[in-house]
Amino acid sequence: MNHLITCDECGNEFYIVIREKVIDPEENVVMSYLRCPVCHKEYCFTVIDDTIRRLQRIQRDINSMDNTPSKYLQIQYKENKKKIKEHMGYLKNKYCK
Ligand SMILES: [Zn+2]
Repeated sequence: MNHLITCDECGNEFYIVIREKVIDPEENVVMSYLRCPVCHKEYCFTVIDDTIRRLQRIQRDINSMDNTPSKYLQIQYKENKKKIKEHMGYLKNKYCK
């Protein structure tokens, strides 16, 4: 499953290889990104910190339950999903240039 994307900057086509780097060691913020091999332009993909990791862990736990999650957990799942999205948006604004 190889997808080619076209670089906005130089028009080069390249395969999607997701790289990761720590952008704020203090806050444990990790960015995953794509980089054009020709002009090295970086495309920010996701940015996660401990808040998102914690929420994702809860989501995984809910997902991996054998029984159908309770109403309460289903609501929590939805809330968490929203929180992750919002927080990721905030982090992207802050760290992606
Ligand atoms: Zn490029």
